[in-house]
Amino acid sequence: MSDLKVLVFAQKKGTALSGTALELLNIGRQLADKLSGKLGALVIGSGTDTCAKAALAAGADVCYTVENGALDRFADDAYAKVLAELVASKSPRIVLGPANFYGKALFGRFAAQLGVSIASDCTKLDISGEGTLEALRPAFGGKAYLTVKFKSTPQIATLRPKVYAEATADALRGGSIEPFSPSADALSSSYNVETGAVTTGGEISLAEADIIVSGGRGLKEPANFKLIQDLAQALTGAVGASRAVVDAGWIAYKYQVGQTGRTVNPKLYFAVGISGAIQHLVGMQSSGMIVAVNRDPDAPIFNVATYGIAGDLFEIVPALTTKFRKELGK
Ligand SMILES: Cc1cc2nc3c(=O)[nH]c(=O)nc-3n(C[C@H](O)[C@H](O)[C@H](O)COP(=O)(O)OP(=O)(O)OC[C@H]3O[C@@H](n4cnc5c(N)ncnc54)[C@H](O)[C@@H]3O)c2cc1C
Repeated sequence: MSDLKVLVFAQKKGTALSGTALELLNIGRQLADKLSGKLGALVIGSGTDTCAKAALAAGADVCYTVENGALDRFADDAYAKVLAELVASKSPRIVLGPANFYGKALFGRFAAQLGVSIASDCTKLDISGEGTLEALRPAFGGKAYLTVKFKSTPQIATLRPKVYAEATADALRGGSIEPFSPSADALSSSYNVETGAVTTGGEISLAEADIIVSGGRGLKEPANFKLIQDLAQALTGAVGASRAVVDAGWIAYKYQVGQTGRTVNPKLYFAVGISGAIQHLVGMQSSGMIVAVNRDPDAPIFNVATYGIAGDLFEIVPALTTKFRKELGK
């Protein structure tokens, strides 16, 4: 039996490992330790050596690299085949990926290729008394949580970003880097997924942001989203939105937070001019700290807010932006 117990898809972001990869390495290390086995990581693209060293420093015992510049651009078909071939070759018991845009595309396809089940968008991962993966995942828009156990192998799960902290690096950790050569068939797959809500033009992606500033219908008109963008920029955060303003065409769907948008889990979430409908709350209520700005003191958003500011957003938000710019030297 393979002593590789856990394999993590360690996605690159430019020349470095992504934050989600470091989060997966953190929990992956804990699971591998509980199983007294090894933690592996898979890095795909060009310049994999640097990322592989980072993966070892972050807890992996072995990092498999597929060095191929043609795979710098995410292609779920090719990545799924590469992952499936690596799993067939190394037989890890558990395979983990991020529940972000990429992980959802990749891991659904990967699990289907293997014909095994998957627990997606998990918020907690552990090892059960029987030594199998035990995953907690939300259902019914976050109203219920299911504990999922697996009958099939490998046990596959995607993890919601920001649930676990990023692994801390220890440059002195040992480990091996092993180049992996996928088949020509895997490499010839060319189906590319558009980049969706990922970082473009310097924007911070919603799923991976530590700070999100979201705006709602209280902004009155699309031009006033500038207030949200300015505050987000002052805090080096991402912009989010309620469905009301997305449906009204004020801002693109990729910014929508909530039941039919994105589920986010930042350290700090600003809800500005957002009433706090349940469909919005299910997408953001697990944020570390919630600050709500609303002129209606009875708005439901205040029920989940850590700090509530009852007042006119057109006065409060510019004042906050000015203050943060000053304090943060921007
Ligand atoms: C099946 C389904 C799925 C849905 N999915 C989602 C989803 O994914 N995400 C989502 O967000 N919604 C979703 N909705 C819609 C949701 O029910 C609400 O309609 C929506 O969230 C309301 O958006 P809002 O808070 O921006 O607008 P409103 O409810 O109109 O609230 C605007 C708020 O702004 C405040 N305000 C107004 N002027 C000011 C001012 N000058 N200063 C400060 N505050 C001010 C008001 O007091 C009010 O509380 C869904 C609905 C359904 C039925």
